[in-house]
Amino acid sequence: MTANRSTHIRLTSHPEPNTATARFPIRWGAADPKERGPVIGSVTNPGDRNVIGAHGGSYSIYRALAISARALNPVARPDLRNTHPTTEIGPYPQWSEPGRIVSLDPWGHCVGEVFRDEIAAGVDIRPTIAVTKARLNMPEIQASLGTRLRADGGILHASGDISVTKVAIDPVWYLPGVASRFGVSEGQLRRTLFEQTGGMFPELVTRPDMSVFLPPIGNITVYIVGDVAGLADPKRRISCRVHDECNGSDVFGSDICTCRPYLVHGIEECVREAQDGGVGVIAYNRKEGRALGEVTKFLVYNARKRQEGGDSAATYFERTECVAGVQDARFQQLMPDVLHWLGIRRIDRLMSMSNMKYDAITESGIEVVERVPIPPELVPPDAQVELEAKKAAGYYTPDGGPDEESLARVKGRDLERF
Ligand SMILES: [Zn+2]
Repeated sequence: MTANRSTHIRLTSHPEPNTATARFPIRWGAADPKERGPVIGSVTNPGDRNVIGAHGGSYSIYRALAISARALNPVARPDLRNTHPTTEIGPYPQWSEPGRIVSLDPWGHCVGEVFRDEIAAGVDIRPTIAVTKARLNMPEIQASLGTRLRADGGILHASGDISVTKVAIDPVWYLPGVASRFGVSEGQLRRTLFEQTGGMFPELVTRPDMSVFLPPIGNITVYIVGDVAGLADPKRRISCRVHDECNGSDVFGSDICTCRPYLVHGIEECVREAQDGGVGVIAYNRKEGRALGEVTKFLVYNARKRQEGGDSAATYFERTECVAGVQDARFQQLMPDVLHWLGIRRIDRLMSMSNMKYDAITESGIEVVERVPIPPELVPPDAQVELEAKKAAGYYTPDGGPDEESLARVKGRDLERF
């Protein structure tokens, strides 16, 4: 249990003395992983660091607590034996197409293999992606057995279990690429990130030699039903749902929105696609409450339900903007990266009505053949407010959005009747 550095604090805001050139430079977008170079966020070997921030995103704070509690040795390194992916993913041409992937490390799951010698020699290189296998069991899927879904013994089992490959992806941002997605200069983006995190990462403004940032935000989880390699095969059909986190609905079944019903519908469609020889993919992004956070989200619920006239589809977005200052902070510009990482060029069925997701996916060069709205019978009564408001604001709907008059008629449950 030795301290990181016992003598004095060494700031990382300026390069280590006598290191004119980085030992492990990152050449983002290089097709060869050795040439691209490893992502090193080591806090024990500051001289090797070639990124801003720390591994694990927001969990780096819990790592600090574990060390503070003397439960974790600060110089401990992961033993990567047997942790390698259960399924090969890539490499795909998209991994080195200019500007195609800027918010994750396409080589993040194979560092144990690619940089085996460097790791054995003591360089602190850690995976930012993990690929494993699992079974899912959800009550709605069980209830669909024998009606909407049939067990096949391989993809969907008689018990209702679904066999999946699941992938966890930590964000790794190439700052010039992220800036260009948002149409700002890299300098402006760095400065805004620095200021809005309360100066948490001074290197953003003092280390232009470091272009890669490990942001302290949530990760992406991907669930794949069927043959993972089929995602890059143009002859195979793909069904896909891109889902943004909603803890209240996804986990607890709260009925004010359509999140969990749409997610389950997406999983059902993925199972069916895989059973027909295609592949299903769910990309789950930790962007709670439109990336505004759950506290803001619950404040908005109260503002919606307490306003004069009660919760109404006509004022749905207005109430969010009053509290948060913005209607939505998810900004889907970075979202398609994970789809490109999986080698996807075409999505046959996209289970999403979001125009923002659709625009981001198609503008990034992935063809979308069909958009699949949530079946009306799956929409909880109190969620009509959200759904109708979104349709009026441009969400995809085959029958056109509601007019002003019908929008005004859509009301939610008031707080007294919770
Ligand atoms: Zn929700």
